[in-house]
Amino acid sequence: MTDLRVRADLHAVPDYSQGRPAPASGERESFKISSNENPYPPLPSVVERIAQTLTSINRYPESAAHALTARLADRFSVAPSQIVLGAGSIEVVSQLIRATSSPGDEVVFAWRSFEAYPMLVRTAGATPVPVPLDASHRHDLTAMAEAITDRTSLVMVCSPNNPTGTSIGRDELADFLARVPAHIPVLIDEAYVHFNRRADTAVGIDLFRSHPNVVVAHTFSKAYGLAGARVGYAIAPDAIASAMRKMAIPFAVTAPAQAAAVASLDAEQELQARVDALIGERERLLTALREQGWTVPETQTNFVWLPLGADTTAAVAVFEEFGLTVRGFEGEGLRATIAETEANDRILEVTAALIDRRLCADLVDITP
Ligand SMILES: *Cc1c(COP(=O)(O)O)cnc(C)c1O
Repeated sequence: MTDLRVRADLHAVPDYSQGRPAPASGERESFKISSNENPYPPLPSVVERIAQTLTSINRYPESAAHALTARLADRFSVAPSQIVLGAGSIEVVSQLIRATSSPGDEVVFAWRSFEAYPMLVRTAGATPVPVPLDASHRHDLTAMAEAITDRTSLVMVCSPNNPTGTSIGRDELADFLARVPAHIPVLIDEAYVHFNRRADTAVGIDLFRSHPNVVVAHTFSKAYGLAGARVGYAIAPDAIASAMRKMAIPFAVTAPAQAAAVASLDAEQELQARVDALIGERERLLTALREQGWTVPETQTNFVWLPLGADTTAAVAVFEEFGLTVRGFEGEGLRATIAETEANDRILEVTAALIDRRLCADLVDITP
């Protein structure tokens, strides 16, 4: 058989692993807490505005998305030309990578971080330069600065970081940016910005204003609960924004997605109450985990990271047994989304079981 022709370098790209549906758990409801989705259904006002677009779905969406672009520009006091939309911020990150990086170029990012980064860099034909997180699951910004070479075309920073939940401090990130040559764009991926309550946190939009090479990415998928609608955006300097638009898939942001995003901006206060409730649940969960004896890293997101090392795969199976699908990274750890109260309570049942079964790596001191 002849092999059909595809790009040879795609062998290096792993197949995307999608979160599996929740497993059956006897009589009890199961929960998929593997993709950091918002557990709340969309607001009625948002559903209504989406519905209004459906009767003209025979038409292409307005590709410039004037209404949404204007709203975002206004919200962040930037020019509309500095807003770039995409089908989720993953598409925006993809645009940025392809607008800056081609074969021979290197893209520096922390690892472990967002799974899509190495994939998107490789499919652009560029070379990923993953820089290991430090011992406290944070970006090692010193090592990242040292990884920058003549071939570096882009640096990507994820704060708060997926999947470890850790954030970067304001001074720390400013010091790092001072070390990045001015011609190299730096992405600050803030998918979890709404969940970040760290007092001295780095804030992407502030850094965008003070540094001409900073690009910020935000999404409607997490805090706004629109993961299925596919809409995200970047705030980027004009030169980068126009390059990114050239890489955008035409009409990728559909009319229902645009309407859902505008309606969500209209309902920000209502949505903020939900975010606050999720943060409350996060703090409740963290306190309870610590009472059980767990050492867990800081999280400024809607998930917790359990760095279970060699126990990860067995621990993921215990979560499944209890009706929870979590995201495991073999040999490293697992990520569990803060979701419905019942799901969060179930996490605590599982973590108690993990202690009983001695599947808690060195995160719990189990010496009698
Ligand atoms: C979820 C996530 C995104 C974007 O998701 P979209 O649904 O494509 O908007 C981007 N970056 C990180 C780190 C994420 O976790």
